[in-house]
Amino acid sequence: MSQCLPVETPTNVCPACGAAFTCGMNAGADSCWCASLPPVFAVPEAGAGQCYCPGCLKAKIAEAEGLRPQG
Ligand SMILES: [Zn+2]
Repeated sequence: MSQCLPVETPTNVCPACGAAFTCGMNAGADSCWCASLPPVFAVPEAGAGQCYCPGCLKAKIAEAEGLRPQG
């Protein structure tokens, strides 16, 4: 009998696509993967709101950059 437990337990559910993912901050880490992404969106304070999953956050960033005025 062997059980494979996930290495990480998802701490969040993406409000956009419903995917389960782990926020580094919620998992107790000093920083999160979202910190390495462009700060297009303000990171919500702990417990203040929902984070997007990596895929949706990147899509949101790409969308925002596409709307950004050139020059
Ligand atoms: Zn998502």
